[in-house]
Amino acid sequence: MTSATYVGRFAPSPTGALHFGSLLAAMASFCDARSHGGLWRLRIDDIDPPRAIPNAAEQFQNSLNNFGFHWDGPIIFQSERSDVYKHHLLQLNQKQLLYPCSCSRRDLRNKNIYPNICRPSLNTPNSQQQAANLVAAKLSDSDATRAIRVIIDNNVIFNDLIQGPQHMEVGSQLGDTVVVRRDDLFAYALACAVDDADGITRVVRGADLLPTSATQIHIMTLLELSPPEYAHIPVALNRDNQKLSKQTQAKPIDTMEVLPTLQQAWRALGQTKLDVHSVESFWQAAISAWNLNCVSRCLSTSYE
Ligand code: GLU
Repeated sequence: MTSATYVGRFAPSPTGALHFGSLLAAMASFCDARSHGGLWRLRIDDIDPPRAIPNAAEQFQNSLNNFGFHWDGPIIFQSERSDVYKHHLLQLNQKQLLYPCSCSRRDLRNKNIYPNICRPSLNTPNSQQQAANLVAAKLSDSDATRAIRVIIDNNVIFNDLIQGPQHMEVGSQLGDTVVVRRDDLFAYALACAVDDADGITRVVRGADLLPTSATQIHIMTLLELSPPEYAHIPVALNRDNQKLSKQTQAKPIDTMEVLPTLQQAWRALGQTKLDVHSVESFWQAAISAWNLNCVSRCLSTSYE
């Protein structure tokens, strides 16, 4: 990939402070972009206002600034892109790939894969047209009794730059995915697929999102958009082998200890030790020393 064409991104959800796990994703995506002479965008995935924590987006920006990250262009907020998501949904609906789903949580209890209860018969044009009409009605005028799902049948094959070749039977392993929730909010899979296909050339993020990538690539393909390349870094685990996240009470990263924390993240990403004494020299050295091939090819790593 030539430097002029590389566009990377870091896309935190504003559901908590920047913790060590999100620092790893920020550092890996930043170093990978900058070492290719590429751009690095910051996108705030605030598509789910009920889960957003007030001021979390500002806190993220402050923490990233304190740690010496610089992003290109304006910050992108998913909450401001509803028209773009709707435009793409209308395209999927025109292709009769969407249907309304009135299944409740209780209906789907103990079911990991949606059993296609509301899926229209794909051999009956009438039932597909009916589904498309209901979807159009929900998109133009809220209908809190139904979510919208996208029909997912195919296999997805892609090469992850860290984890290697991936083959996922998205139809049977993941099933028809919700793209609009009952409460009219756009689902993350749709928003992320649309945003990442909009000029991002390489996504570097945590391996917990590997299955999601298959769904997102599939959605991009249905929309005739080109997927970016993917590189999934190991997810940081705490002492109890849990992914660091708000749910597992991950501590915010310590902005008083910037250089040691950067060095710790650098080690966790398998990179060769840097002999540096300031944050500025850390980034200079890190960008020229960054080697994606040194990142461990495993899905998780313990760092404590
Ligand atoms: N916003 C999501 C998160 O913070 C996804 C990030 C991504 O796609 O890189 O988990």
